[in-house]
Amino acid sequence: MDAFQSGLAQAALAFWAYLGPQPNSTHQAFGAFATGSLANMARNYFWFLLMGAVLYAVFLRKRGAALTPAAVLRYLLPASVYKTPSVRIDLMMVPISWVLNFLLFAGLAVGSGVAQIWLVQHYGHSPLQVPAGWMAVALQIAFTLLGTDLARFAWHYQGHKVAFFWEFHKGHHSAETLHPVFIRTHPVDMFIRLLYMNMGGGLLGGGLMYLTGVDASATAAGYLAVIGTVFHFMQQFEHSHVKFSFGKTLDTIFYPPHFHQIHHSALLAHRDKNFGLTGGLCLWDKLAGTLYIPKADEKIVYGASMEELGDNNPHRTLWGFLSGPFVAAVRTLGRHAEGPGERPAREVA
Ligand SMILES: [Zn+2]
Ligand SMILES: [Zn+2]
Repeated sequence: MDAFQSGLAQAALAFWAYLGPQPNSTHQAFGAFATGSLANMARNYFWFLLMGAVLYAVFLRKRGAALTPAAVLRYLLPASVYKTPSVRIDLMMVPISWVLNFLLFAGLAVGSGVAQIWLVQHYGHSPLQVPAGWMAVALQIAFTLLGTDLARFAWHYQGHKVAFFWEFHKGHHSAETLHPVFIRTHPVDMFIRLLYMNMGGGLLGGGLMYLTGVDASATAAGYLAVIGTVFHFMQQFEHSHVKFSFGKTLDTIFYPPHFHQIHHSALLAHRDKNFGLTGGLCLWDKLAGTLYIPKADEKIVYGASMEELGDNNPHRTLWGFLSGPFVAAVRTLGRHAEGPGERPAREVA
């Protein structure tokens, strides 16, 4: 029995070693980095299909609908989504984002543990001290998640509410179909997000650890890696038509992936709603007055605004997507001198 159990555990570990996300670092040559990124994309897709099949079979399937592999695939990967011009821009951005990640972005990771150690080294221990043990591990996990969640909310709120930053963030919203492969993000917006999440989040979480006397530990870092992986695979559903919900009650506490579909809606009623992060707290949206709980049959049109769809989408070409935001963002500075920098409510939906 023991041999059977250890065999099972080994098989599970081998399975995970192959299908879990693999750390990718810029210490590799670019070729290896790109291959690793491609393999991680394939893993994301695999987990989307596996988790999506379970969601479909248990919760989302209409009564009496077939449960064959073909029916599941038809539901999870509708051909209509992949035939749109919007997807072409997303796919063209994949290699560009690899180059940018390789050259620029990898150095932005700080993490709460690193920040806490740095603070202790520079300012000495705070008067408080939580003894090493489960309490310190739990607090480190809680503070790290809280720091990242709040920092990401701040980035996202700024990206929507400040006209200058909106022009760059709009690149993500100009996608007219959602699909789990890769949704375009403008490099400037990506850079600001990483700055907020990795440095801001690290300093917030690490600052809380420092103030309350929680020392960074490898055990907590290990748990955080596992939690991060679970979040990461759930997040594949944010950009898809699949309604991944935690259930009515939990949805009001923890932000579920399907709230992000409302966030991508071009309809005026949905504008600037649901800024939260999948798996994070809905509290920030509640406090900001931006929480929108979708109805069961909520109609959504994906895009930046109703006036910027199809031929009117300024990001319908790769050049428009990459260069347009610089011009538009500079223009907002002129507007800013005349009045408030908030982006105007333009269309009537
Ligand atoms: Zn947004
Ligand atoms: Zn999104």
